[in-house]
Amino acid sequence: MSSTVLHLERVVDRLWPTSGAASWDASGLVSGSPTQHLSRILLAVDAVEATVAEAVDTQADVLLVHHPLLLRGVTSVAQDHYKGALLARLIRADCALFTVHTNADVVADGVSAVIAASLGMADHTPILSIDGDDSAGGGSVGYGRVGSLPQPTTVGRLARDLARLLPATAGGVRVAGGYHQPVSTVALCGGAGDSLLDAPAVVASDVYVTSDLRHHPASEAREQARFRGGTPALIEVSHWASEWLWLATAAQQLRESLADVEIIVSELRTDPWDFAIVE
Ligand SMILES: [Zn+2]
Repeated sequence: MSSTVLHLERVVDRLWPTSGAASWDASGLVSGSPTQHLSRILLAVDAVEATVAEAVDTQADVLLVHHPLLLRGVTSVAQDHYKGALLARLIRADCALFTVHTNADVVADGVSAVIAASLGMADHTPILSIDGDDSAGGGSVGYGRVGSLPQPTTVGRLARDLARLLPATAGGVRVAGGYHQPVSTVALCGGAGDSLLDAPAVVASDVYVTSDLRHHPASEAREQARFRGGTPALIEVSHWASEWLWLATAAQQLRESLADVEIIVSELRTDPWDFAIVE
């Protein structure tokens, strides 16, 4: 029996249970039919013009993305707006749209855990556990990851390692802290992680790696770090790049459960920034 979108829904709910999604989130099937036959899935971080075109051009049956195209209340999917136009294009091409968002952030092999594993961190745990008591070093499910590097390094070398590990983006990797500042414990959160700046596990780390740090949260966190003795330093990476890394892991997990389905990871850069000028 060949696979359908319904099979994908079941696999997704086992790999990334929707019970783990944040209450404000909108994960799951966005458009398309559960009975749609499934022979090819394209994975991407964002449903944007480029990835929708890639899905249609490669005759994918599902475009599976991390970020919800529709998150807030929607009263129209008319094609005078890009979102309606993208959905219409997908529907006409019989390509379903599927979102796996915060439910993929929190699992033990989710978005942040993949970054931690890529840095060689072995016994990493959530910064903010949602299935156990953080103070007891509790569960394996939750937001962000914290743990030790296999070898001590410096803030500068870690930033260079991240620049090599992640796909290139215009914004590159930005650092608040000293290049030669020693690093053993790392807290990290793929995507926008400023809400975790004050988390005890972040404050106790040598460095915090995340994305989308605005002036005031970053400035206040660094001033408080200096006030305490200098840690954590901050390393800011591209939101898209930090989450793109997870797609290869997700693809492999899907391949193991949907043997008759071709799983492709989009190589397109959907980071919104095109260039930066530093002079
Ligand atoms: Zn994100």
